Amino acid sequence: MDRKYAQVIIDNKSSNTDRTYTYIIEPHMADDIQVGMRVLVPFGKGNRITKGLVVDIIDFPESDYQLKSIIDVIDGKPLVSKDMIELSFWMAKQYMCSYLDALKTVLPPGDFKDVKTYIIRIRINKPFLDCNITSTEKEILNIIDAHNGKVELERIKNILNTKNINKSLKKLENMGYITSQFEIKTTVEKKYEKYVSLKDRTLTKERLIDVVGKRSYKQLEIAEFLLSIDEIPLKELMDKTNSSLSTVKALEKNNIINIYDREVYRNPIKRDIKSYQKHNLTDEQRRCLNSILENMRNNSDVNDFLIHGVTGSGKTEIYLQLVENMIEKGKDTIVLVPEISLTPQTIDRFIGRFGNRVAVLHSRLSHGEKFDEWRKIEEGKVKIVIGARSAIFAPFKNLGLIIIDEEHESTYKSNMNPKYNAIEVAKRRCEQSGAYLVRGSATPSVESYYQCKENNIMLLSLEKRINNKKLPHIKIVDMREELNSGNNTIFSRELYNSIKENLENKRQTILFLNRRGYSTFVSCRKCGYVIKCNDCSISMTYHLGENKLKCHYCGLTITPPKICPVCKSKYIKYFGVGTEKVEEFTKKLFPNAVVKRMDMDTTSRKGSYDLIIEKMKNNKIDILIGTQMIAKGLDFKNVTLVGVIAADTTLNLPDFRASERTYQLITQVAGRAGRGEFEGKVIVQTYNPEHYSIQCAKNYDYSGFYNKEIMLRKEFLYPPFTNLISIVIYGEDNRLVAIKSREVYNVLIEEIQNMELYDILKDIIGPYPAPLEKIKNNYRYQILIKCTDEHIDKLKDIIKWVCILNKKKIDLDDVKFSIDVNPNSIL
Ligand code: ADP
Ligand code: ZN
Ligand code: ZN
Repeated sequence: MDRKYAQVIIDNKSSNTDRTYTYIIEPHMADDIQVGMRVLVPFGKGNRITKGLVVDIIDFPESDYQLKSIIDVIDGKPLVSKDMIELSFWMAKQYMCSYLDALKTVLPPGDFKDVKTYIIRIRINKPFLDCNITSTEKEILNIIDAHNGKVELERIKNILNTKNINKSLKKLENMGYITSQFEIKTTVEKKYEKYVSLKDRTLTKERLIDVVGKRSYKQLEIAEFLLSIDEIPLKELMDKTNSSLSTVKALEKNNIINIYDREVYRNPIKRDIKSYQKHNLTDEQRRCLNSILENMRNNSDVNDFLIHGVTGSGKTEIYLQLVENMIEKGKDTIVLVPEISLTPQTIDRFIGRFGNRVAVLHSRLSHGEKFDEWRKIEEGKVKIVIGARSAIFAPFKNLGLIIIDEEHESTYKSNMNPKYNAIEVAKRRCEQSGAYLVRGSATPSVESYYQCKENNIMLLSLEKRINNKKLPHIKIVDMREELNSGNNTIFSRELYNSIKENLENKRQTILFLNRRGYSTFVSCRKCGYVIKCNDCSISMTYHLGENKLKCHYCGLTITPPKICPVCKSKYIKYFGVGTEKVEEFTKKLFPNAVVKRMDMDTTSRKGSYDLIIEKMKNNKIDILIGTQMIAKGLDFKNVTLVGVIAADTTLNLPDFRASERTYQLITQVAGRAGRGEFEGKVIVQTYNPEHYSIQCAKNYDYSGFYNKEIMLRKEFLYPPFTNLISIVIYGEDNRLVAIKSREVYNVLIEEIQNMELYDILKDIIGPYPAPLEKIKNNYRYQILIKCTDEHIDKLKDIIKWVCILNKKKIDLDDVKFSIDVNPNSIL
């Protein structure tokens, strides 16, 4: 038998070892080793025994100079499929990251070296009559039975004192005697929360008055509230009854209630989810669904669809019915949503319709929970995965469909290594598995829409809201005129009057501002000094609640100075408006309204987000103020007014996507209004009323916006007409970073010239101090390169050669690189 060789990736952080190593597969092991299995290999000079992952098996090594042999196979089945390994290698190239970083996205959550394989006995009662069972196989079954039907693979090997049992295991598995399972050791700490319940569950309302006393109104109210429930988390009780801790404690002291710790199970889905009935599709929905299904049926070469449907046009129902179709075909579906915690309603609908066939992946799961969800998918126990960006790596083996909701959202691009774009990864997975891609948005990204016109992507439109509900009327208010007529408050007269009217009609209002905190910057009126974060070149935001200045980049928190650190004057002034100030001002203007704020500061505690949503749904809130958290996906029937406090915050960002983001945000947030019985109204306050993104948003004129924007992108050469690669060089010594980035730049230019890629030369900008000059105490210089598809691979090779492998031997000890291919923004 010919010798085979394995290509192995070693888990080692050093960039020097970020490559595959070739090992000999000894013939006695040949049947046991498959791509995707872990192996033990001797590594490095000392031949330290190290765990690695087999990523390929080849017949001829590049050179057989001093090749070593694999010592042992760890797994009985591959930990990760060939396709997924191939996908990660593609990512490493596409996004210029290390193989290891790329592989981590497709490997099980946690450290893949900690995964254990267990062999489990099934059909215990069936005696093994099969006469073609060997003595080893019989021994294996006996070992498992002696361990109560479940034993680690390692252990079997130890007992049998042999390494090669995969063949036997495979046979036993095929005969239906055993199955194998991956598990990971975790140290999941138990979590506790304070709960409250009435001591005496037999109390009646009348008796309560006797026990508590008539005059303790608040205590009585709480006790009465508790009558109707078994138990409730303390925090929730205080919130629901609007009571203080001391009142609740008083009840405990009076022996009326118990307060106790209770273990909280970290079940990914906490809420009770109602079943979500199938809707009869509208004509428009049916046409859209049928186009997709027909393409699938006819095996046409279109496998990529973009649903451009106005807010409230019922895109989710189409997704759901597509999934149903996949289930009928026995295929699996991945559903991506922008941020799992911000899209509870979409998730509820999927679970409400498909129940436990759905796995939910999100960042707040513990390691153990993540691993359990991963295993459910790997073992085929679920058919649908719904999750944020990284759910695109769900290890389905029979993938039929990928749905990407709100496809324009920037969260689909990762800004950590690997800096992948989930939409591109989705396309790649579809190519691999023959699956279909369906994206949806009311405001498709300019890039996607452009691709529809250029490539083989089918564009499907939904122009009407369900039940022909009207899209809300959008009114633009010029804040310069407000100022001229003497109104220098946050609210224009129009917005103020509309809120007032809305309150009188008992309808709900949403106020949107894309900045949290109270004042967005603090400065000295005498010398003009603006207080910036010590570690970042960014002005600090004042938070009134805590009376602190905070850096929204690194989280640094300081006490606001009373005198100017530069000129020692006392004239420190607070400027700019954040959501906290809007909240305060709104409460002052409308003292009788229930006003709540929803942003990162008010929803950091687990469950607080759900609570606000719940109250909003039940009409317990009159005015909801928030950041982009409230702009997306929410479906409240009683919201009839939406106010955009300042449309200019996104518009004025020095980024080529600023107009697009502004158009998207206005359209999305406007879409929260008028979803129920009553018509909606939107008021957009701005200092740039003539700007095309605001004008087009006002008229729901997507094509108008797109045509203008695509023209500008073409003229100034931005995506989709070019690729952008951002190279940020950073380090703690400003001078050194400047010098090194110049050196790197020169070498890059030299190499680009050597490769005769003269086109690119004119499109290299920099090195210059990055727009965010300093972050977390690191000074940053940026080189920005524009490059067409034609040359991009060559350019990446050059950058990798110079910046990552450092083949030019520049002294780069004191600087680091952050390389981003087609970044979200160039800030
Ligand atoms: P989109 O995601 O396009 O903004 P949704 O999927 O949230 O819209 O749909 C808006 C509302 O219409 C939801 O409350 C949904 O339950 C309802 N809906 C969707 N399709 C239908 C239908 N065919 N008939 C009746 N109601 C529907
Ligand atoms: Zn000063
Ligand atoms: Zn900072």
